[in-house]
Amino acid sequence: MSANNDNQITFDFIGRINSPYKEKFAIPRQPGLVSAAKGSITLINQANNEELVRGLTQFSHLWLLFIFHGTQQQGWKPLVRPPRLGGNKKLGVLATRSTFRPNPIGMSVVKLDYIEQIEKQIIIHISGLDLLDQTPIVDIKPYIPYSDSINGAQAGFAQQEPYQPLSVTFSAQAQDQIIKFQEKYVDLVLLIEQVLAQDPRPAYKKLNIDEKVYGMALYDLNILWQVQDNNTVDVLSLNKMN
Ligand code: SAH
Repeated sequence: MSANNDNQITFDFIGRINSPYKEKFAIPRQPGLVSAAKGSITLINQANNEELVRGLTQFSHLWLLFIFHGTQQQGWKPLVRPPRLGGNKKLGVLATRSTFRPNPIGMSVVKLDYIEQIEKQIIIHISGLDLLDQTPIVDIKPYIPYSDSINGAQAGFAQQEPYQPLSVTFSAQAQDQIIKFQEKYVDLVLLIEQVLAQDPRPAYKKLNIDEKVYGMALYDLNILWQVQDNNTVDVLSLNKMN
């Protein structure tokens, strides 16, 4: 970190995320909504040192502070339209968890699974993440329930976990294909089910009959799906991307 002038500070990333989410589309809106999402943090440069994580495994959950590197270039506006409000009502950016913020900093609580060291490389395994692959990490802190979890806190339009309206089915083709990928990706079926139950479609698509075939990228798979009768998602096929 260095101070450039009175109003500016430059940070070095301390790590990078390895995530099954290879594109923004279909990433859940908050961590914890998709517990089957497993990823890891690779510590880099000076932060890649066993000493930095000594004692960390006594915590079950971590705060990750990160950079919204995938949307950073698009800048920000004072007002945003939260998807939770159907995408047609504007609120101040600081009243939302929008990625388009004055400083593109994100924060997520994730589950700490285990820490591994391969030769000199420290790798922190996590789950329940809502982060794009390769997201730069600027800080990691232990989650401290007595202070970080507040009973009875008010959360306005985001008081409840989003209602999950969709159930998920797999076509015969998808069931055949999934068998060969399951060995490599544990919990693949659960991951797909949890991601799709969130209904990743843009808000306006949910209002009318929607026959579109959507594609989403999880790991190196392109997964095609379609909404049936507005309450079921059918997974059509899974194909390896190049
Ligand atoms: N829990 C975080 C993120 C909330 S927004 C916070 O509250 O700050 C969640 C969305 O961030 C996801 O739906 C995903 O589309 C987006 N996202 C995740 N990682 C990103 C990245 N590196 N760049 C841009 N957008 C990202």
